Amino acid sequence: MPAGRFAPSPTSDLHLGNLRTALLSWLFARDAGLSFLLRIEDLDQQRVAAAPGIAARQLADLSALGLDWDGPVVQQSGRFEIYRDAAAGLDTYECFCTRREIAEASRAPHGTYRPYPGTCAQLTETERAARRRDRPAAIRVRAQGATMVVRDMHAGEIRGVVDDFVLFRADSTPAYNLAVVVDDGLQGVTQVCRGADLLDSAPRQAWLAARLGFEVPSYAHVGLAINAAGARLAKRDGAVTLAALSRRGVSAAQVCRRLCASAGLPEADSAGELRQAVAGSPWWETPAIWAPWVVRADQ
Ligand code: GLU
Repeated sequence: MPAGRFAPSPTSDLHLGNLRTALLSWLFARDAGLSFLLRIEDLDQQRVAAAPGIAARQLADLSALGLDWDGPVVQQSGRFEIYRDAAAGLDTYECFCTRREIAEASRAPHGTYRPYPGTCAQLTETERAARRRDRPAAIRVRAQGATMVVRDMHAGEIRGVVDDFVLFRADSTPAYNLAVVVDDGLQGVTQVCRGADLLDSAPRQAWLAARLGFEVPSYAHVGLAINAAGARLAKRDGAVTLAALSRRGVSAAQVCRRLCASAGLPEADSAGELRQAVAGSPWWETPAIWAPWVVRADQ
């Protein structure tokens, strides 16, 4: 059954921006008659362990807004073997570069993704054996400078050069880009709706999906929530989680209305009501869905 999905990382409570993305991905899936899946992206066990109980709260918050999902919630931490098996046929190589070395070699502006310059791609077996004595290797896929074009519902055609991105970190943890593609492929995800911060990752992921023989999903990257200063919304911006808003007497239904309004959609008390209110209309043409949403946390 074709599906849409929401895939939070359980490292902090969902804030208004995450909740808005969840609501929109649910609406995209349900309005198209698709299944809707939830996946907990808990690859980074250290960060997850530092914030226990978050995944359960995330699910409870999504339920409080009226979102429902199909089948069991998948947790990436239990699927490392699956990612290893899926990657087994790929052309890969060991990479011994530190973050700093990559930063220095690629000269990308701070904060954006740095394409890997290929430093370790041509090491000889003797060189590799020597480097292995210093530090464990990450595993990168050999992409041979491929380009991939994806179609985003709002941004249109996005062309990206695919670098030799990491499949397994030096501690052998599967990397996000591998896990997300394998899971979307195996779970039958045909529609990826998520925050616009991941638009640049789409060509890389689509390329890997095609390499692994999966159908490339359709993409809809929606506007991110930002604070008054224009930075990405964070917990320190004030009452931006369902729990914090509830302490101020704001109900989940009121939050749902606020999320709908932020996306230029009819103000509904729950996801189900929103779905009914927009049924049969081209609701995704509303520009606010795709634009950054400036959140005033004191509202
Ligand atoms: N787990 C990612 C995040 O929380 C989302 C991944 C995705 O939607 O592809 O940012």
